[in-house]
Amino acid sequence: SFSCGFVGLPNVGKSTLFNALCKGGAEAANFPFCTIEPNTGIVPVPDERLQVLSDLEKSGRIVPSTLKFIDIAGLVKGASQGQGLGNQFLGHIRSVDAIAHVVRLFEDGDVVHVDGRIDPVNDLDVILTELMLADLESLEKRRDKAHKLARANDPDARLEYELIKSLAGQLGDGRIPEYDKNNPKLVEWVKGYGLLSMMPAFVCANTDEENFRNFGTSEKAKALVEFAAKHGMEVVPVCAKLEEELGQLEEEEAAMFMEELGIKETGLARVIRTGYRLLDYITFFTAGPMESRAWTVTRGTPAPQAAGKIHTDLCRGFIRMETVSYEDLVAAGGWAKAQAAGKLRIEGKEYLIQDGDVIHVRFSV
Ligand code: GDP
Repeated sequence: SFSCGFVGLPNVGKSTLFNALCKGGAEAANFPFCTIEPNTGIVPVPDERLQVLSDLEKSGRIVPSTLKFIDIAGLVKGASQGQGLGNQFLGHIRSVDAIAHVVRLFEDGDVVHVDGRIDPVNDLDVILTELMLADLESLEKRRDKAHKLARANDPDARLEYELIKSLAGQLGDGRIPEYDKNNPKLVEWVKGYGLLSMMPAFVCANTDEENFRNFGTSEKAKALVEFAAKHGMEVVPVCAKLEEELGQLEEEEAAMFMEELGIKETGLARVIRTGYRLLDYITFFTAGPMESRAWTVTRGTPAPQAAGKIHTDLCRGFIRMETVSYEDLVAAGGWAKAQAAGKLRIEGKEYLIQDGDVIHVRFSV
């Protein structure tokens, strides 16, 4: 299942965020290197459509889809040189699908900053530089090998050698590398390199409450957004302390508290949504008297594979499925009424599942 790793310098609030997200687990402490083993938590993906479906179909329960979050500690300057928890740390990053770079915008004299000052652009720069250096090193190893092959005049080897040279050159200039993503060969090769700096990533700006509500007004926040954009990343503001408090409240109390503060969506919900969008994940549903349930697939997944998420038999014996968009289902007033109104579509094996599809699979065993 999809996983997102929190990465960042010590004391920026990774564990606090992680705990709030998972409502317990990792120990947050004012101490660098406090979380050495990666901590893993499974988090439900908030989706308002589930409750609506459940009400319409009088479902016995709601089952949201989930994301895995991993708190990856241990990044310090020099990680790519194997300092601190260097190599182990880089390996943990490689194992996740997306990176959430956590940087610190909150001011708190009681919480030491590793560099002694609050400078999120510098924090992010330190992290990206370490990732780029690690990538550069692994590319340089490949480059020598590719060079030998290229001299044997194999056209593919030449192409790959040029690719590696270009990627390494861009990294050397301190840029996140770009290449021709329309060429499937290149895409396949680049995927195989497992480059850390090219993984899907976004920035979590851990701010204090005031700045969270008016994010982007302070000079530091503006500079961060600009710097992140230069590296192709968006910035999601969060307030770990606030999320921590919200996490301790009952759902209703939390909603009231948020209304009082004038917050529409928690930072954590945005973190989850952003991770989802970055990885091009979409949600489809099954809904009936037993349960209303959300399922995650990548955009462009064919119907049988999507059905296979529900049960492998549904993929193997897939014949066709009945589908209705969430909007049409709600407008009709439920599955039975949508069926009576002729709103259900019959889709075959070639159909690519769409976000919001509510499905019922026909299969043979
Ligand atoms: P990590 O090393 O990045 O995992 O950082 P932690 O989550 O352990 O946080 C380090 C310290 O900063 C802890 O004492 C937290 O309580 C504190 N902290 C984290 N987030 C915030 C925040 O948003 N505001 C304030 N004031 N303190 C925070």
